[in-house]
Amino acid sequence: MCKKGQGFTGQGNEPEGKMSIEKESEMMKMWEKLGDSDNFFEAVYQAEPPWDIGRPQKEIVQLEQVGEIIGSVLDVGCGTGENALYLAAQKHEVWGIDFTPAAIQKAAEKASQRNLQVTFFVLNVLELHTLGRTFDTVIDSGLFHALSDEDRPIFVNNLAAVIHRGGTYFMLCFSELEPGSYGPRRITQAEIRASFRDGWHINYIRAATMEGRVRPDGAHAWLSSISKE
Ligand code: SAH
Repeated sequence: MCKKGQGFTGQGNEPEGKMSIEKESEMMKMWEKLGDSDNFFEAVYQAEPPWDIGRPQKEIVQLEQVGEIIGSVLDVGCGTGENALYLAAQKHEVWGIDFTPAAIQKAAEKASQRNLQVTFFVLNVLELHTLGRTFDTVIDSGLFHALSDEDRPIFVNNLAAVIHRGGTYFMLCFSELEPGSYGPRRITQAEIRASFRDGWHINYIRAATMEGRVRPDGAHAWLSSISKE
């Protein structure tokens, strides 16, 4: 269900040479070891995943600072919870879900260490409708680009079930402008527009960066703001 070959690819080649040789060979070794593991994410979370930067993504911080993130928030594919915890510290009511138990365990530990209230639990985003409630805002840092083509429409339908009418989904994903093939698949603006054609209004899709441990200056990304009609 979460094989490397679906959402993620990667030989570690970086034509722009931005990844240090040391980091690159470290990441390649890890990827090779994982192979086509059925439990790719669980295996990666046993160490420190390349996307897990130990702080919120700066694009999420900026959205909050300019007041775009409103009310209750659901973080889909929350990983170890840095974005969710940051928004909880800004006084939002926040839930974070991820299908990888190791990630949710780390997120819950951080919440208790930092004395922050976030409802974290294990759930597949293809089953979001089972939450039985809606949110004002949904954030996604690196989840959408991990979904297979078949899972995308199922996710979008599930997303519609957990967001208020007029509520907004903010999505940060790798863009096709990111060179090389290491890491998650690249997403084009056209793919995003196609996924959210019916019942959604695309407020913007803008060039952004996605920070990571391998590429500290950030990978080319799209930041999308999409509201439910
Ligand atoms: N948002 C986090 C993690 C990004 S990595 C961050 O910014 O650090 C992508 C995350 O999505 C992983 O934690 C993975 O476990 C989760 N994920 C991938 N497919 C999923 C699915 N179908 N349901 C729930 N979580 C999923």
